[in-house]
Amino acid sequence: MSNAQTSSRKIILQERPAPDELVPSRYAVRVGDIDVLIISDGILTPPAESMATNADPEVRGAWLDERFLSKVAFDWALNAVVVRSGDQTILIDSGLGEEYPDFPRAGQFVHRLEAAGVDLAAVTDVVLTHMHFDHVGGLLVEGVKERMRPDLRVHVCAAETKFWQAPDFSLTAMPPALADLARKASLEFLNAYRSHLRTFDQQAQVAPGVVVTRTGGHTPGHSVVRISSGDERLMFGGDALFPVSFDHPEWHNGFEHDPDEATRVRLRLMKELAETGSWLVSTHMPFPSVGRVATAGDLYRWVPAWWDY
Ligand SMILES: [Zn+2]
Repeated sequence: MSNAQTSSRKIILQERPAPDELVPSRYAVRVGDIDVLIISDGILTPPAESMATNADPEVRGAWLDERFLSKVAFDWALNAVVVRSGDQTILIDSGLGEEYPDFPRAGQFVHRLEAAGVDLAAVTDVVLTHMHFDHVGGLLVEGVKERMRPDLRVHVCAAETKFWQAPDFSLTAMPPALADLARKASLEFLNAYRSHLRTFDQQAQVAPGVVVTRTGGHTPGHSVVRISSGDERLMFGGDALFPVSFDHPEWHNGFEHDPDEATRVRLRLMKELAETGSWLVSTHMPFPSVGRVATAGDLYRWVPAWWDY
């Protein structure tokens, strides 16, 4: 990073809104006896074509135009979640952190967590849907690890930790700077949190009513978290479903390490969500990213929740 970039990053950090900002940055839902708090990390702006790398450019352009979205950079929401079940406080993913100065609108998770009254020292568990930089970055922010409990458990799929020791990017279409960042952030994370890792092969119960299950696809160890209590259910879908996935589940995302498998995974999950009526929260759906999935002919439709204050 050049000095100019470093200093502009510092200015951006100083100009961030105060913790009592009026901009909505968190949204609470209850799933039976379990509290779920969605926290916005901000907005990433990857190249718009990375949302649909195998699409006809004209079809992709028309899809973006119809939604008044830029054809240059896609305003991509970035959400992470806090779950309280019994006496456990669980973070699911952690946002971008300070890893990448070219995404200055993201990386707000840690201070927004504090603004929401969540003390890092109270976090008992972290669950990672996968180890891309926009999911582990918040854990790498200076001073965060030091404030975590010494007995913190970090749940991640064993296939994921294995993958990042020698990651394969041959089927992705990431800008090279982001592939480099993905390698760097995942290694930094493994080095920093190795003694806290609780890996699982296919599935693990993290807390009563909170189960993480491997899906693969986006990355080999990509996982989703299913939360259930009484009759109520919510799935945190990580990077299995994107805003384009409902109209075009076949569109490959440039960040997918196995795009064909990622398509199969999202079709399977959308079918499950439509059949069960479970709430869905996804990393990159527009904040607060709470909705349900309905069938719509051969496809599926995103039905956002009506905000409840
Ligand atoms: Zn992501």
